[in-house]
Amino acid sequence: VSKAQQTQEVFIEYDVTIEPNADDLRLLKDFHRDGMKDFFLVYQPKLDVKTGLIKGAEALLRWQHPKLGLVSPAKFIPLLEESGMITEVTQWVIHETISMIRRRGVCGKGIVVSINVSTRDLTDLGFVQFVEKEIKNIDPKCIQFEITETGFIDDSDRALYALTKITEMGIGCSVDDFGTGNSSLSYLSKFPVGEIKLDRSFVFDITKNARHLTIVSSTIELAHTLGLSVTAEGVEDKDTVELLRELKCETIQGYVISRPIAEDEILEMFFAKSEH
Ligand code: C2E
Ligand code: CA
Ligand code: CA
Ligand code: CA
Repeated sequence: VSKAQQTQEVFIEYDVTIEPNADDLRLLKDFHRDGMKDFFLVYQPKLDVKTGLIKGAEALLRWQHPKLGLVSPAKFIPLLEESGMITEVTQWVIHETISMIRRRGVCGKGIVVSINVSTRDLTDLGFVQFVEKEIKNIDPKCIQFEITETGFIDDSDRALYALTKITEMGIGCSVDDFGTGNSSLSYLSKFPVGEIKLDRSFVFDITKNARHLTIVSSTIELAHTLGLSVTAEGVEDKDTVELLRELKCETIQGYVISRPIAEDEILEMFFAKSEH
C-alpha cells in the first residue's frame, strides 16, 4: 500500500463519521443533564399469524422533551449510539420493561415483550452482568432482544460472547431490520439468534412490488431452513397480512394491528388474549 493510498484510507474513515449539528449537540447536552426523566415507553402489539391472537409487543422509547415536545427515536437513538450513551438508555429500557412485566403479571401467559438492543450494548463490559441481575426478577422467556446494528461492531468476539451468554440465560434474540445496512447474512452465520425481523422497507408493498415479494418469500424460506422464525414489521393492510400468512410468516407487527400504545392499553390486549 502506497503512502498516498494510506492517507486516502484514513481520510475516508474520518469522512464517514457524522458531524453532529448544533441541534444534535443541544439534544445530547439536554440528555446528559436530565438523564432518563423525560423518557417513557410505548408498546406495539405483535400478532400470532396462526392463532390470530396477540402474542407479545415491542417496547419503543419516547422522549418528551420539555421544550421541543416529542422527539423521535429515529433522531435521538443514533445520537446516543454515536456518543456512547446508548448503553445507559438500553439498561433503563430493560429495567423498565422487566418492572412492568413483574408489576402487571405478564409472565406465564405466553406473552413475550421485545426490547431493542444495539450491538454497541453487547460490547459494553458490564452488559451481561446487568442482564443477569435484572432477569432474576422474571421468567427469561417473557422477554426477547431485538439486535440492531447502526454502526459496525468494533469487537465482534465480545458481542458473540455477550449474545451466547444472553441466550444461555434463556432470553431469545432476533435480528432486527434484517436485510438492511449491516444487518445481514453474516449475523445468521455468526450469532445464536432464533428469529429474523424483516424490515418494513421490504414488507410494506409486497402486494404490489414483485421484487420485494421475492425478497420476503426467499428470506422466510431461508429462515425456516435454518430453523428460525420470522416477524414482519410495518404491515399496514389486510392483504399484506393474508399474503404473509400464505408465506408462513409466524408474526406480524404494524399499523394494521395497532400503532405503539400506552402500557394500560397493551395490558388490555394481553389479557384479552389470555381469555381465549
Ligand atoms: P424499529 O426497531 O425498526 O421499530 C419499528 C419502528 O417502525 C417504530 O418506530 C414503529 O413505531 C414503526 N412502525 C411500526 N409499525 C409501522 C407501520 O405499520 N408503518 C410505519 N410506517 N411504521 C411502523 P419508532 O418507535 O419511531 O422507532 C424507530 C426506531 O428507533 C426503531 O426502529 C429502533 O431502531 C429505534 N428505537 C426505538 N426504541 C428504542 C429503544 O428502546 N432502544 C433502541 N436501541 N432503539 C430504539
Ligand atoms: Ca426493533
Ligand atoms: Ca425496522
Ligand atoms: Ca432499527
